[in-house]
Amino acid sequence: MAINHEHESLIDVDSAVKKILDTVVELSFETKKLLQSLDHVCYQDVIGNINVPPVNNSAMDGYAVRFKDVKEASSDNPIDLEVIGIISAGQIPSKKVRYNSTVRIMTGAPIPEGADAVIPFEDTNDVLEKEESLKNKAIRIIKPVEYWNNVRDAGQDVKKGDVLVAKGKLISAADIGVLASQGLDSVKVVKRPKVAILATGNELLSSGEVFELGKIYDSNTQAIAAAVVESGGVPNVLGIAKDDYNSLNHKIELAASSDLIITSAGVSKGDYDIVKNFISDQGEIQFWSVKMRPAKPIAFGWIKTKGDIKIPIIGLPGNPVSAMIAFEKFGRPAIYKMRGIYDFGRFVVQAILNDEIVNYDGRRIYARGIVTKKGKDYHVSLTGSQQSNLLTSMAKANGLVVCPDDVSRLTVGSLVRVEMINWTG
Ligand code: AMP
Ligand code: MG
Repeated sequence: MAINHEHESLIDVDSAVKKILDTVVELSFETKKLLQSLDHVCYQDVIGNINVPPVNNSAMDGYAVRFKDVKEASSDNPIDLEVIGIISAGQIPSKKVRYNSTVRIMTGAPIPEGADAVIPFEDTNDVLEKEESLKNKAIRIIKPVEYWNNVRDAGQDVKKGDVLVAKGKLISAADIGVLASQGLDSVKVVKRPKVAILATGNELLSSGEVFELGKIYDSNTQAIAAAVVESGGVPNVLGIAKDDYNSLNHKIELAASSDLIITSAGVSKGDYDIVKNFISDQGEIQFWSVKMRPAKPIAFGWIKTKGDIKIPIIGLPGNPVSAMIAFEKFGRPAIYKMRGIYDFGRFVVQAILNDEIVNYDGRRIYARGIVTKKGKDYHVSLTGSQQSNLLTSMAKANGLVVCPDDVSRLTVGSLVRVEMINWTG
């Protein structure tokens, strides 16, 4: 089922993204050990089973007292209390605090019965402690304390029944701590998509192979696999297919258990560009050619595997920069949605443009830019020539300068939108 190039119709970037998001679906769940759940999306609300802290406990190292006993205390009017015990974190108090007595208590230790406040060591005077006969038996209080001071309430952090981590939240280090504070050791998360990556082209050599004249090394596989990892997908590198149907078919069979297939090259109008025809033969093309620069020849659709399962497939252009920018605009959102993340926007800055951008054929341009911040302003320079084969210029860029399709020129000094693909602040 050949595609008729005469009827090529360009779709705009936003409609293309929408088609992709309408097609790919959020994956189901898997159970992960807490540490492995980092940066996964929480599959369902996790509800607290126990109060944290479980009991009222001390926020300070000090003395558990009855606040009324010491409310008149000052350096001029010290109040001496009998020390009837000592309690550390992890112990259960055995003594009750009665009139003019106290228990020496450590941070995190349960508040003994009778006590209603804790006086930190620094608000006591250890003069009595220094006398051998009184050591650990009496303490002099030199400051009053209010009711419940330095006491941490049971359930102050988490109450039984609270939502600990909400469905849809990207699990952070702190979330993992919160789950661990409940004694949990695993959590249900949305699966990460398995992404099959396939380069196509008779000219390609794998990195590590001996160089041959006329050939080039395949950079797309490694760059796209790395970008898949950055997006939270799990790459499954299939290698290189030749520009013929059988070779492509053979490789694609290896992708049967994948959630998404990403190919590169062979989607343009060259004599050997067979990927889009392959997709329409084995499934359906949903769009081909997007009104953008670079990365105009990009195909999206689905193919059916032997098991009759439809797998979405993105056919990236072959030129390495086009492949990376097409992945950024279409592959990343697809992977995010599969992971259960619906906000895939990048940090955007309005920057002062240092180099002119000319848009001569009404496509949306994503120019490679280098953004710097000077004072309150962001400035952006282009990385040099914007040809789509110059991969080093992609490596230099930290942002993509956007020139809308209906703007024919962005002049030096104008304020432009830059989507930061790599910004550490
Ligand atoms: P094509 O889309 O097949 O016409 O390829 C466009 C350009 O990208 C050609 O110059 C290819 O040699 C180059 N290209 C294709 N695939 C790769 C790849 N995996 N790594 C580096 N360059 C590639
Ligand atoms: Mg080719």
